[in-house]
Amino acid sequence: MTETFFVGIDGPAGSGKSSVSKEAARRLGFGYLDTGAVYRALAWHVLETGGTTDDEAVVEAAFDTFEPSIGLDPDERAVRVGDVDVTDAIRTPETTAAVAGVARARRVRERINELFRRIVSEAPQDGVIVEGRDITTVVAPDAPVRILLTAHPEVRAARRSAEMGAADVAKVAEAMRQRDASDSTVVDFLNAADGVTAIDTTHLDFDQSVDAVLAVIGERREDGRDGR
Ligand code: C5P
Repeated sequence: MTETFFVGIDGPAGSGKSSVSKEAARRLGFGYLDTGAVYRALAWHVLETGGTTDDEAVVEAAFDTFEPSIGLDPDERAVRVGDVDVTDAIRTPETTAAVAGVARARRVRERINELFRRIVSEAPQDGVIVEGRDITTVVAPDAPVRILLTAHPEVRAARRSAEMGAADVAKVAEAMRQRDASDSTVVDFLNAADGVTAIDTTHLDFDQSVDAVLAVIGERREDGRDGR
């Protein structure tokens, strides 16, 4: 069996990361793994069992009974924990607020990262686009393709509110700023690490962003074929 071609894409909310990664995966026939959804599902699981995500020991204990199921099909957004479909529940403001505690739980992150690596290595597709915050730096620092998608904060806030159907861009911008600040205490996803290709989508529309990502992937696949 040949190794799954690993594409890591990091970036903050509103950078276009999820929609661009999904579309790139569709066009290549690759799998797509939304790692944020797994963090969210674990936050949901902690809350469901009556705990708080502020306590790392509680999050760790919850991980022991955490049975997430997430598909790699870019058109299938269902996420389950055990038998419960949590697809919508993981996007509520309550779960979104609780996910910061999960993100800060360092020992749990290591276990979650193992889970991501296993999902990719067992994928039936030739390649998988894995999207998150620390994929290019921690989960797969040796991946053949590592991309950081960025965009100006105002543009990110406007995209995010359009996605959420929210009229109050200022409120969305403030929530996003707080989440970025909390997340960046754990991993730096605003600056590209060594060897990571940064793509600034501030002035790119959706198709141009997809093309930019596909161009980087195409180049690296060529390099691999040439044995470089
Ligand atoms: O990508 P999304 O906004 O759904 O991610 C939800 C949260 O999960 C992030 O705000 C972050 O706290 C956490 N996360 C993370 N590492 C990842 C992916 C997500 O810490 N690789």
